[in-house]
Amino acid sequence: MSAAYNELLDATILHLENLKLRGVRNIAVSKETLRALALPPPKSQISNFKSEIESAAPAAKTEPAISTPAKKSSPEKSAAFTELQKRALSCVKCPHLASSRKNVVFGVGSIDAQLMFVGEAPGADEDEQGEPFVGRAGQLLTKIIQATGLSRADVYIANILKCRPDTPGQSAGNRKPTPDEMATCIPYLHEQIDLIRPKVLVALGATAVEGLLGKTLGITKLRGQWQTYRGTPLMPTYHPAYLLRNQAMSEKRKVWEDMLAVMEKIGMPVSEKQQNFFLKV
Ligand code: URA
Repeated sequence: MSAAYNELLDATILHLENLKLRGVRNIAVSKETLRALALPPPKSQISNFKSEIESAAPAAKTEPAISTPAKKSSPEKSAAFTELQKRALSCVKCPHLASSRKNVVFGVGSIDAQLMFVGEAPGADEDEQGEPFVGRAGQLLTKIIQATGLSRADVYIANILKCRPDTPGQSAGNRKPTPDEMATCIPYLHEQIDLIRPKVLVALGATAVEGLLGKTLGITKLRGQWQTYRGTPLMPTYHPAYLLRNQAMSEKRKVWEDMLAVMEKIGMPVSEKQQNFFLKV
C-alpha cells in the first residue's frame, strides 16, 4: 500500500512542481481534500532519503530549502534567455530530429540557479511533456535534488541534446546522440550556461561529460573528480538511469558523495544526517 501511495504522491508533487514552473499559481482543491491534506501522514509513509532513493518514494525534505537564487535576474538576462529559447524551439538544424520530435526540450528551472544539471537527451516522457527529466530517471533526479534541501525550481536542468534522438522503426527505446547531433546542438547549451553562470555544473553520465568537456575517458573513471568547464567547477557523476539499473547501495553512496562535494563547493550547509546517507543499512 505504501509503495502505491508513495508513487501517487510522487506523481502529484512532480505535477504541481511542473505547474508552478509554468507559472500556475492557484489550483482548485475540494474541502475534503484540504481536510485530508491537513492530517499528518501515517508513520510508515514518512521515509528518509535512503529509502526514497531505493523505492522512489516521496521526498520528505530533509533540510529547509536554502540557497535559492542569490539575486533576481536582470530584464536583459531574462530577455536574452527568452530569445535563446525561441531560437531553440524553432530549430531544424537536424531535420530527422525536427520531424520526429513532439517537443523541443529546452530546459527547466531558475535562470539564476547556482547549480545546474546537464543530462544526455530527452526520452519519450520528456519529448511528450517538453520538459527534461520527468520520467523515471527524472523522478530519481528530483529526489536527489530534494535530498540536498533544494527543489527543481531552485536549480536549472538541461540536456546536451534538445530533441529526442529518433529511433526509426522502433516504437520504444532510446539511443545515444551521435557526435554530429551533439556538435550541432551543443551551442544552445553553451549559451544557456553562459547566461545562467551557475556556481557549479553537474554532468549526469558519460554523454554529458563528453558533450561538455570532450572527454571520453568513461564516467566510472571521472565521477567524483572535479573538472572545469570554461572556468566553472564541474562534477561528473552517474546518470540517475544507471542508479535505476544498478540498485547497489555502494553506487547510490557514490552519487550522494558527489552531491555532498557539490553542496560544499556551493557553500550549502550539510547536516550530519545528510553526511551519513547510505552509510548504514
Ligand atoms: N535522460 C536524460 O539524460 N535527460 C532527460 O531529460 C531524461 C532522461
